[in-house]
Amino acid sequence: MARSKPPERKRGQGTLGIHSDAAERTAGSPVVPPIVQSATFHWADPSDGDLLYTRWTNNPNQELVADKVAALEGMEAGIALGSGMGAIACTLLALTEAGDHIAASSLLYGGTNTLLASELPRRGVETSFVDPRDGDWEAALRPETRVIYLELPTNPTMRVPDPRPVVALARRKGIVVVADVTFASPVNLRAGSLGVDVVVHSATKYLGGHADIIAGVAAGPRNIIDQVNHVSRFFGPVLDPHAAWLLDRGLRTLEVRVRRHNENAQHVAEWLARQPGVTRVDYPGLASHPDHAVAKELLDGFGGMVGFVLEGGAPAADRFVSALEVAIAAPSLGGVETLVSQPRYTSHVGLSAEEREARGVPDGFVRISVGIEDRDDLTADFQQALAAAG
Ligand SMILES: *Cc1c(COP(=O)(O)O)cnc(C)c1O
Repeated sequence: MARSKPPERKRGQGTLGIHSDAAERTAGSPVVPPIVQSATFHWADPSDGDLLYTRWTNNPNQELVADKVAALEGMEAGIALGSGMGAIACTLLALTEAGDHIAASSLLYGGTNTLLASELPRRGVETSFVDPRDGDWEAALRPETRVIYLELPTNPTMRVPDPRPVVALARRKGIVVVADVTFASPVNLRAGSLGVDVVVHSATKYLGGHADIIAGVAAGPRNIIDQVNHVSRFFGPVLDPHAAWLLDRGLRTLEVRVRRHNENAQHVAEWLARQPGVTRVDYPGLASHPDHAVAKELLDGFGGMVGFVLEGGAPAADRFVSALEVAIAAPSLGGVETLVSQPRYTSHVGLSAEEREARGVPDGFVRISVGIEDRDDLTADFQQALAAAG
């Protein structure tokens, strides 16, 4: 039950990640909300208020994290679901129907790309892809375009295409802008302040932060989130209460973790850029990054993801990854531990070498999700792995 409060100064991201607005404080109430591991709730008739049912996403643990992420994003409402893909799919299903069209960035998470290119067409929703680096968004729009879909920053080259011109175009045409801001986290970016209508997260990544849950969140205007909720009730990608509780636990340290990810990644990126055998480093915090100026203007931090290219190509990248002793070779990102992967085996496995090149991911490209370990242990590990890579 929300208390009515006088308007107050907006709290910072550190505070919002810890304190839930809705928490009732009475003598003896637990500092940490309990896990309400219940599918259903006592309810006799409509005089008992809203019917609660965990598939309806109104379990207290689900609501708490949904509200918390909405507050962190500066959005009116949020919904917490069972995966990032669950949040993305339900959002797009809610905003479109057969005959509608989506204009989407061509630099997308692999699962989202497949959803747009193969799954939604089966439901009569077509997508045109636009290169966010230099593509013509307006030319891609149709009278039936309902959604413009972006990722900020992009995987794995950390491009930060300025969303403001696209948002202005969408406003003129009455199109909803949805952005996947998983890589940024609400510590480094509040996309709503740039005019993005709906943000989606794989909460599996930075929001959860410990690589131990699969979860997703969408946040935006109440009327849209209500529609997402309606779709999710019938497609059913539910966030289990225990996973919701772990997500809340992750959110409590989001701000401090992301700041450390930012610092460590900047250090690793600068270090890598000095190493022989490394031909390119992709990190928006480096002056050499093509979007450094935009990133500096729009982001509060450059993030924890670093890409680099080894001169020795694919064989050198294989040797580098196998030699790691501190960092772990694994897909995914955003946890406290450093993870290293090669997009040609993971997110970009379905593309030809030429298609990967066109997306800025040549063979020899290595992606690091820089964790929060001691930074000198990370560079020492990378040093010996570079030596092994030859
Ligand atoms: C991981 C990821 C997803 C999918 O999230 P899941 O939680 O694995 O379903 C979507 N978008 C981005 C940018 C991701 O990194």
